[in-house]
Amino acid sequence: MMGGLGSRTSALERLGATATGDPLDLLVVGGGITGAGIALDAAARGMSVGLVERMDFASGTSSKSSKLVHGGLRYLEQREFGLMREACTERDLLRRLAPHLVEPIPFVLPVSHRSARAKFGVGLWAYDALASFKNLKVHKHLDGPEVDQLVPALPPGKVRGGYVFYDCKTDDVRLVMEVLVQAVRYGAIAVNHACVRDLNSGASGCSALVEDVETSQLIDVRARRIVVAAGVWADRLEALAKDGSEPRLRPSKGVHLVFRKDQVPVTDAAAFIPDVSRKRMLFVIPWLDHVLVGTTDTSYSGPLDHPSVDAEDRAYCLDSVNAIFGLGLTENDVAGAYAGLRPLIAGKKGSTADLSRRHAVYEIEPGILGITGGKLTTYRRMAADAVDRIAGDLGNQSRCRTKWIRLGSSDPERLRVAVDRRARKLGVPSEVVTDLIRRYGDRSLEVLDVGAAEDLLSPLVPGETPVAAEALYCAREEMALHLDDLLSRRTRLSLLDPAAGIGNGSRAPELMAGAFGWTKAAQARAVESHRMTIENERGLPLRPAAVPPAPDIRSSDLGAG
Ligand code: FAD
Repeated sequence: MMGGLGSRTSALERLGATATGDPLDLLVVGGGITGAGIALDAAARGMSVGLVERMDFASGTSSKSSKLVHGGLRYLEQREFGLMREACTERDLLRRLAPHLVEPIPFVLPVSHRSARAKFGVGLWAYDALASFKNLKVHKHLDGPEVDQLVPALPPGKVRGGYVFYDCKTDDVRLVMEVLVQAVRYGAIAVNHACVRDLNSGASGCSALVEDVETSQLIDVRARRIVVAAGVWADRLEALAKDGSEPRLRPSKGVHLVFRKDQVPVTDAAAFIPDVSRKRMLFVIPWLDHVLVGTTDTSYSGPLDHPSVDAEDRAYCLDSVNAIFGLGLTENDVAGAYAGLRPLIAGKKGSTADLSRRHAVYEIEPGILGITGGKLTTYRRMAADAVDRIAGDLGNQSRCRTKWIRLGSSDPERLRVAVDRRARKLGVPSEVVTDLIRRYGDRSLEVLDVGAAEDLLSPLVPGETPVAAEALYCAREEMALHLDDLLSRRTRLSLLDPAAGIGNGSRAPELMAGAFGWTKAAQARAVESHRMTIENERGLPLRPAAVPPAPDIRSSDLGAG
């Protein structure tokens, strides 16, 4: 049995049936990594589970991370030893559960002062020790030329050596999708574009008023327990369930700029550069044939929906990367940019960079739990904590099984052979195969089948690896309803392509229109809506040359699609 998330219509019907029939054991609010992890854990323990996501799956912080599955070297400074140990263990487990998606990556930490060398040397010994020396490899000291070789973009002679240590990288959205697909295989119901408008708990159980955002239809969903896994929106949901609740969260903002690999010459190694004077770090991470340049947190008090990379963020990243690597990059070189908000639990200390990355599970009202904080890397442990508590309440004796549940690929080597064989027959190049496997694991063969049946094996966007068949596959099997779902999350083209996947020659609008029967005007509205979303996110216009001709529509038509 394969397939993805199943039919959205029937998922909504099943949720609606709980109003008069049997309630769910558990309703999960929020389709980021935390909610997805809880849905899988609970479904695998035999509970009946529903998950509703207000926008698209992973559209919150879970698509805006630095894409690392890591122990978190910099948490050493905060003496978060327990968290680091837990994160190292989870990283190693995730590598085994999702080897097609969680890849080891060497990190170079260049140092230019003797004092820094001693400090980081001690820190890295502690990092390896906390992972019980089970890190992918133990860290190593490098001399100047060795650093230059691994990070050729660093101007020669500027550093006095450094260290190399090992962590992992992933595609955060695809990790969420793999966890959700597994949850659905265990019987969970998952629906995106379904927003919780009200939450109630009483003697007879809990209920949520859910709006299908596509049709504005309201559905009453009943469940024995509800868990709110709504990331930075958790306080809003708590306020729906309980009058006068105090905010628990202090969101912090992190931004990333994306460049072509030849613009920031790195090898396969990432660089981790402490900017001691401003208490921020700069990561330079090779990712999907591009390079992510990102920073750590700054305090944030702006709107929670659609955070944007502002001029100051861009200037900080550009100035830092230019100064460190001796480059002359400008805003015109930015291929993509994104901002994310970290759901940090409010603490007493001053800066958000000092707040703990730990998670908290708490009772909002009887029967309604909340969970927030934590990291992408530790989602499985977070889920287990929440579900242990719920299972105990419901008298379910089963223990957490997710340690043994593979995510998307049961045998990557055999899979590669099978997909290669099929791709060769269809004339699909090897780099496309690599990317397909990374995105869909065992389901890559299904994507190729769609491509062969519909004659859609050419690129979705000229010069990029996703194939046109992915538009249909994601619409049919992964609930991609909008251009943004397809381009920002399922394929990540909005991060990698300066024209965000809607430039000249893109087949995405026409294929999504075909899949959902959009009129020409609806197709034009969808393109415009995606353009506005990405321009707001980047804080920059899409590259003019790549923008398609202005759609021939009235302004009153805008806003849907
Ligand atoms: P989210 O992903 O935000 O999910 C919450 C979901 O709830 C959203 O999709 C939202 O739409 C939904 N929701 C809200 N209201 C409602 C409603 N009314 N009804 C239904 N649904 C609703 N961690 C790592 O391990 N590695 C990293 O490299 C890393 N890098 C990071 C870099 C940055 C810049 C940031 C900000 C964080 C980073 N993190 C990293 C942390 C990690 O990304 C987050 O901890 C994690 O993604 C949070 O997931 P979540 O599911 O709790 O929240």
